[in-house]
Amino acid sequence: MILTMTYAGENATDLGYLLHKSPFRVHSFEQPFGKTYVFYPEATAERCTAALVLEIDSIGLVRGRRGPGGEGRVLEEYVNDRPYAASSFLSVAIARTFGSALGGKSKDRQELADSALQLEAQISVVPCRGGEKLLRRLFEPLGYDVNARRHPLDDKFPEWGESPYFTITLRREVRLSEMLTHLYVLIPVLDDDKHYWVGDDEVEKLLRHGEGWLREHPERELITERYLKHQKRLAREAMERLIGEEEPEADEAAETHTREEEAIEKPISLAEQRMDKVVGTLLARGAQRVLDLGCGEGRLLRELLKEKTFSEIVGMDVSHRALEIAARRLNFENMPGRQRERIQLLHGSLIYRDKRLAGYDGAAVVEVIEHLDPPRLAAFERVLFEFARPKTVAVTTPNVEYNVKFETLPAGKMRHKDHRFEWSRQEFRAWAEGIAKRFGYTVQFLPIGPEDSAVGSPTQMGVFSIQ
Ligand code: SAH
Repeated sequence: MILTMTYAGENATDLGYLLHKSPFRVHSFEQPFGKTYVFYPEATAERCTAALVLEIDSIGLVRGRRGPGGEGRVLEEYVNDRPYAASSFLSVAIARTFGSALGGKSKDRQELADSALQLEAQISVVPCRGGEKLLRRLFEPLGYDVNARRHPLDDKFPEWGESPYFTITLRREVRLSEMLTHLYVLIPVLDDDKHYWVGDDEVEKLLRHGEGWLREHPERELITERYLKHQKRLAREAMERLIGEEEPEADEAAETHTREEEAIEKPISLAEQRMDKVVGTLLARGAQRVLDLGCGEGRLLRELLKEKTFSEIVGMDVSHRALEIAARRLNFENMPGRQRERIQLLHGSLIYRDKRLAGYDGAAVVEVIEHLDPPRLAAFERVLFEFARPKTVAVTTPNVEYNVKFETLPAGKMRHKDHRFEWSRQEFRAWAEGIAKRFGYTVQFLPIGPEDSAVGSPTQMGVFSIQ
């Protein structure tokens, strides 16, 4: 099977920089299921075409597989369309061969990688179970101009009729990473093959690659079901999470809002008091390997680093920009080796189950829950308390009762424009106690900041421990 991608534009051979493959030679790569080749049948200043050819080793593939054989089965395993038809193997090959391009990264031409380009992709041969209609229903809502040529079953015997195989051409002004992502997800959907096993991490892959487009796609259910090979449980889980997913606040706006919140809280240096209390709590509970979830620009990470007791510190945030600022502020680049080994930054969302978060002693979730939409909170609760399950969890959130005391905050306004809610002490307590009960934790409540007899403290903290 072959995928070609053509870029027509100024300095068209820059496509080579986007794919991290020189247009001037042939590249070949070993894959677990065969071999891939990348070469450029056309490379001029105006037009450049990269070709990805995938050669499946169908014999190796069968040999490497376990499971019951049986005579009939064996023949089918050797004689099938897998070596010729675009399938999930092509998606895997895209990810393995053009990983950076798929992720939108280019070492030498980042600006170009971030720009919408006049691109054309052609794939031969795509099995399209559902015909041309389905092909259009999948790609047209994404803005592609779709051209499909159906292949006859055998051109020597036209009376045999049409095959389910097409050569398709897609055109659009689009970022290369977006186009690759669409292909990555939709090729296996067109193929709809049920032979290969799908594990739980396929849900993660689908959601990750579907970010920004799948939720709005009119065929999202069909895409999810077929991508997950009709495994009802997985498809349901993916759909729930897909619908549950909401755009995080745009990075730049988030930064401005963070500054505004800081200005409101600054007169009582609340941020520092929060950091102190959280660090103190984690130390007191004996935590050594700790997570800072929704670490933002790394304020807490800096304090955690100062304490030798914390042997492993992981900061996670959904915002790339915040993580970049954190890395800069912590001076990642020039950190001494021993220090650098203690800390990691992860990009991820707290509403997705994430294996990387399992097995820690302590977690801090400082001023994060109020950024999650209430329907998303339930997902977050399971991600943290059921799956990651740290021994101690410190969660802080504003106490809305205290807002009347902030002189610069207009009445009835929340402290941060992205806050989805701000809770009273009673509301927070009810939420936290519900979690403790459901997931087998105990919870204690502590005030942070100056306490007022009527309205309490500006920040409230719940400290959860596994029972
Ligand atoms: N804990 C930091 C930042 C608090 S601001 C501090 O106290 O300084 C809230 C942070 O939560 C932001 O950095 C935001 O990007 C992050 N966030 C919001 N939704 C998230 C999600 N679903 N997963 C991970 N982080 C998230």
